[in-house]
Amino acid sequence: MIAASPPHTELSVASHDILREVFGYDRFRGPQEAIVEHVIAGGDALVLMPTGGGKSLCYQIPAIARQRMGQGITIVISPLIALMHDQVGALHEAGVSAAFLNSTLSGEEASAVEKRLLRGDITLLYAAPERVTTPRFLAQLDSLYERGYLSLFAIDEAHCVSQWGHDFRPEYRALTVLHERFANVPRMALTATADALTREDILDRLQLQEARAFVSSFDRPNIRYTIVEKKDATQQLLRFISREHLGDAGIVYCQSRKRVEEIAQTLCDEGIDALPYHAGLDAKVRQANQDRFLRAEGIVMVATIAFGMGIDKPDVRFVAHLDMPKNIEGYYQETGRAGRDGEPADAWMSYGLQDVVNQRRMIDESPAGEEFKQGLRGKLDALLGLAEATDCRRVRLLHYFGEASGPCGNCDNCLSPPAVWDGTDAARKLLSTIYRVQQQSGISFGAGHIMDILRGKSTEKVAQHGHEALSTFGIGTDLSEVQLRGVLRQLIAIGAVEVDAQAFNTLQLTDLSRAVLKGKVPVQLRESVSTPVGKTKRATTARGASKVPASLDAAAQDRFTALKAWRGEVAREHNLPAYVIFHDATLAAIAERAPQSLDDLQGISGIGAKKLEAYGEEVLRVVSI
Ligand code: ADP
Ligand code: ZN
Repeated sequence: MIAASPPHTELSVASHDILREVFGYDRFRGPQEAIVEHVIAGGDALVLMPTGGGKSLCYQIPAIARQRMGQGITIVISPLIALMHDQVGALHEAGVSAAFLNSTLSGEEASAVEKRLLRGDITLLYAAPERVTTPRFLAQLDSLYERGYLSLFAIDEAHCVSQWGHDFRPEYRALTVLHERFANVPRMALTATADALTREDILDRLQLQEARAFVSSFDRPNIRYTIVEKKDATQQLLRFISREHLGDAGIVYCQSRKRVEEIAQTLCDEGIDALPYHAGLDAKVRQANQDRFLRAEGIVMVATIAFGMGIDKPDVRFVAHLDMPKNIEGYYQETGRAGRDGEPADAWMSYGLQDVVNQRRMIDESPAGEEFKQGLRGKLDALLGLAEATDCRRVRLLHYFGEASGPCGNCDNCLSPPAVWDGTDAARKLLSTIYRVQQQSGISFGAGHIMDILRGKSTEKVAQHGHEALSTFGIGTDLSEVQLRGVLRQLIAIGAVEVDAQAFNTLQLTDLSRAVLKGKVPVQLRESVSTPVGKTKRATTARGASKVPASLDAAAQDRFTALKAWRGEVAREHNLPAYVIFHDATLAAIAERAPQSLDDLQGISGIGAKKLEAYGEEVLRVVSI
């Protein structure tokens, strides 16, 4: 049944040769080489790499090498059913035999794949965990295993096995069957989620305690981090996009479905090609929007966190957060979707008092146990620390993942160090006002009222409660409302003030308040930069605008544009995203080289043997026009 021919002796199993021949790349990135060698030799592995770090090659190259060595098939387990078609398509383009089994296939298509599987006629098979653990599929694996034709299990998005990860999928727990049933088959688990709890859980749940762990640097140097103070978030976002990213593909994350719809509409009204994505949309609409984002150029996807896992579009130029995520892991994974191609990209977030209050409230109101909530609070605090930071954001991010580094020169705080002011005195005024109000009235009040007292405003409420008589009435007149909000935000962020969601969002003192009142905890605040509020100009050039690398001379730019148009046609014909055919960087390199012959195309990054054969002549024709 298995193809009886010996392994392809004419094809090299050396990992470098496969990298060059199949993928057209010159060198491995970071620890890729060590991982690939370890797995080719039959070792188990845990691979922790940031989003965009290059995890796919870590199992694809061993799969190809081991197939060539006669070891058989690699099973890739992934929760990303909606992306399997494109992942397999990308492998076909590179000349690798691959297939997927999931619920999108008809019965007939599925049995055709199963036949190929049993014949051993596939190098990589993608399947979802719930499929892999069915008795039927396990029996098919038994048959391969008995014949020594089951080569490797690659468990992608392995953090899904952990309830500490943010994408917990109970089906992942059943994957222990693989180890028990196919003890001699190497397994690797891959994830971009790096925190210690999740990592322990992965090793434990998947019984990978013996596996070698490969932990990459989590730095993504091409991503520029910017966190701005939220004023009018929608206008701030419009300004950011129209100033820096007209015509670029990007993702905008919002907290709620309603907000996603609103923002997508606003962007469209401003001439920016935007689409909504959230779990409340019909599955067909979601899939269509995702396909359009992947296939068309320069689309902005406005989404909840339901969007993005496994999205491997390399040329996403920005990720914007209109609301603050829950923790640094989430923030880092989401922002990591920008700039996978290594070209400059932006991670932009607007953040304000309401974000702090909302996130704290969500934790307080969740039905989880107190210990679990404490864990969530700790994670939120780390993110608040990042948002309030006046020093290098990247240093803070990497520190969170256990890496030491120096100022990066590519974040907002490094590029334009914020003016800071000592807010300790202001913080004390605020805290003592909360204290006195509570003393005098026996109840607590919300932020608005406390600010009014500080700023000496004689409102109805102030009069009603006799708060004009307080010694702190009007002691904050030297501070602007923006400054006071900044002080309050930071006090909430560090836990020196609590917002009681059960009691009309009133402000409460905490144990830490006393230390701040005594001046023992300094409060450093960033000076609020006031940005002009003027309406942004309509982004009329956004739609259909296509970016051309400025580094190319005029003739090369023309070639680039022609190549892009040609690539679009091929992608449509093959029903695949354009970047699966060639990345922009590959097209730019071709345009620059102005090749006259197939030989001239050799060695351009991203052109492997199969693509050279399939597209070489076409490319020469396109650039010769
Ligand atoms: P991850 O799954 O870790 O988020 P991917 O596997 O999607 O990342 O890789 C990100 C991008 O980097 C892809 O477009 C891939 O083609 C590219 N890439 C990966 N490894 C290399 C390499 N050694 N040389 C050049 N490009 C690479
Ligand atoms: Zn920095």
